[in-house]
Amino acid sequence: MFKEARELIDNSKKIYIVAHVNPDGDAIGSTFAVYFALKKLGKDVHVVMPSFSEVFEFLPGVESRVDNIEEDYDLLIALDSSDYTRLAISEEEYNRAKKVIMLDHHQISQPYGDFRYINDQKSSASEIAFLFIKSLEVEIDENIATLLYTGIMTDTGSFNYSNATPDTFRVVAELLENGAKAVDVCKRLNDTMKEAKLKLLAKAIDNMEVFYNGKMRFTYISYEEIEGLGIHDEDAEGITNYLRAVEGTEVAVYVRGKSDGTYKVSMRSNGGVDVSKIAISFGGGGHPRAAGYTMTDIQKDKEKLIKAVGEML
Ligand code: 5GP
Ligand code: MN
Repeated sequence: MFKEARELIDNSKKIYIVAHVNPDGDAIGSTFAVYFALKKLGKDVHVVMPSFSEVFEFLPGVESRVDNIEEDYDLLIALDSSDYTRLAISEEEYNRAKKVIMLDHHQISQPYGDFRYINDQKSSASEIAFLFIKSLEVEIDENIATLLYTGIMTDTGSFNYSNATPDTFRVVAELLENGAKAVDVCKRLNDTMKEAKLKLLAKAIDNMEVFYNGKMRFTYISYEEIEGLGIHDEDAEGITNYLRAVEGTEVAVYVRGKSDGTYKVSMRSNGGVDVSKIAISFGGGGHPRAAGYTMTDIQKDKEKLIKAVGEML
């Protein structure tokens, strides 16, 4: 399955690993797991990644991440990104790579790179990274296991979504056998929140608007409100699921203002509507039940979105 990727790695010394912008648990878990695996193979390897929510700072290896790529290099390994424009590097940085490996689990993608493994039947990039690391015959140690566990846990809603398959659970069992710190990961990511985050949630609920007889729930929080609570961009996520949980909801949307003047849209579906179709129509992407894109005009783009959801309902 990964034979040609193995050859690319064997022929490379200097390797960079990257995932998508707005790194989430799967982006962070999969990249740093591959980072530790390639270190064991003696490679000169780095993860290039923008800043992310500080809740992930406890994960092993993350302190070694770099902000950019300032040199030519042999190989880029891109994880969890369906499209090369969504990678957290510039086109120039991408072009500095002699070869590119793409590993992804999105249903709809624009394949890129010299070697591709794309499988939307896998729960997460971390589940694919597990198979990839095994194929390199590297031992899954405690750090790698904890990172992969984190990616799978976060992308499957703590093993509750339909993307958590029997295969996923078999992988997770092996990660636990290899020392994944599951209790610690759950405590830090699921059972701990800053007070400011709780206040953000209160604001989100306060600002909530309901459309189509409760089938669509929408909330918007401006950048000024987020900043006023002392919350960083990256920590302002994770609100949409609360809206989706309300009885009768088919589509939940959370929009937050960003420091650059744009608006990040996060959509969740209960399965009746494929929100990735809506996201793609507005230049974004994602999965049927979780997708997103960027708005530039909150008033006009909001109206368009409400209309698009109405048509899908
Ligand atoms: P979230 O709502 O957690 O930010 O994103 C949910 C999913 O939607 C992500 O896993 C990602 O696949 C996708 N997604 C979110 N924003 C974008 C975007 O701007 N472009 C693309 N292509 N996908 C996005
Ligand atoms: Mn993912």
